[in-house]
Amino acid sequence: HAKASGRNCAQYFNRSLDDSLKERISLENALNQALKLGQFELYYQPQLDVKSNRIIGAEALIRWNHPEKGMISPDAFIPLAEESGLIVDIGSWVLHQASSQLAQWRKQGFDQLSVSVNLSALQVQKESFAREVADVIREYGVPEACLDLELTESMIMRNAEETIAALDKIHNLGIQISVDDFGTGYSSLSYLKRFPLDKLKIDRSFVQDITVDTDDAMICKTIISMAHNLNLQVIAEGVETNAQLELLRDYGCEQYQGYLFAKPLPVEQMTEHLLASPCQ
Ligand code: C2E
Ligand code: MG
Ligand code: MG
Ligand code: MG
Repeated sequence: HAKASGRNCAQYFNRSLDDSLKERISLENALNQALKLGQFELYYQPQLDVKSNRIIGAEALIRWNHPEKGMISPDAFIPLAEESGLIVDIGSWVLHQASSQLAQWRKQGFDQLSVSVNLSALQVQKESFAREVADVIREYGVPEACLDLELTESMIMRNAEETIAALDKIHNLGIQISVDDFGTGYSSLSYLKRFPLDKLKIDRSFVQDITVDTDDAMICKTIISMAHNLNLQVIAEGVETNAQLELLRDYGCEQYQGYLFAKPLPVEQMTEHLLASPCQ
């Protein structure tokens, strides 16, 4: 009896392992196809200057426009794209697409606008990454200073030496580098002086309760003053209310993005916002 149930158990285990493996492989294939078939799309979320409330930038955020399932958010496929390595090709596509869009906006006269692109660890670790970025900049004829690359703390800490070398090259070109989701990693802050950084993005989780939780308020205040002491700019993400924005303004935060002004938008809608609120 024990033997039989053991075998059943193993069969069950094999079958479920098999199913989840099949599911993974089919999602991987689908992701690969999605890239070839042009099913990815970039949405753009406006980034604003806190003082003037003018649009100064746009963060490119990927979406998968699936023929049957509709618009799929990056949280549902970026992790698998990272595990499978597909993120390298997807990331290249994002970099090209965002730079091409920036060039388009510049042609329309929005020549002060910058575009932020999210990076994955595998992309930055690729030996050719710095060259790829330089090539893209040249190909689309956009100024280096108008491209902003976002990395998370954990990405920075992983493979630190190689990442520093790649980032130094990119930063020397004049490209901006930001730390995304700042404050959520558990790494030592010493990387802040070893890495060529321009901006910290305060994570949404600290902004959310900034008006009701004095700890969160102090964390935001402290991040902002530390950033300024290190000659870094600060952008707050996930700003949803005027009360949150007012506090951030009081603390000296210079930029923000969030649903208060706009969600990530398809290109046409982002362009409408630019036309309504020129960034010159
Ligand atoms: P992230 O880079 O930290 O992007 C911010 C996320 O917060 C976005 O989610 C955005 O839609 C959302 N958000 C912005 N403002 C608000 C707000 O006021 N309230 C709330 N509740 N949420 C807000 P999204 O677009 O689903 O992207 C999720 C994550 O996926 C991104 O986090 C980023 O880590 C990753 N991602 C997106 N696009 C790319 C990409 O092209 N490459 C890579 N490697 N990762 C990407
Ligand atoms: Mg980001
Ligand atoms: Mg973030
Ligand atoms: Mg995030």
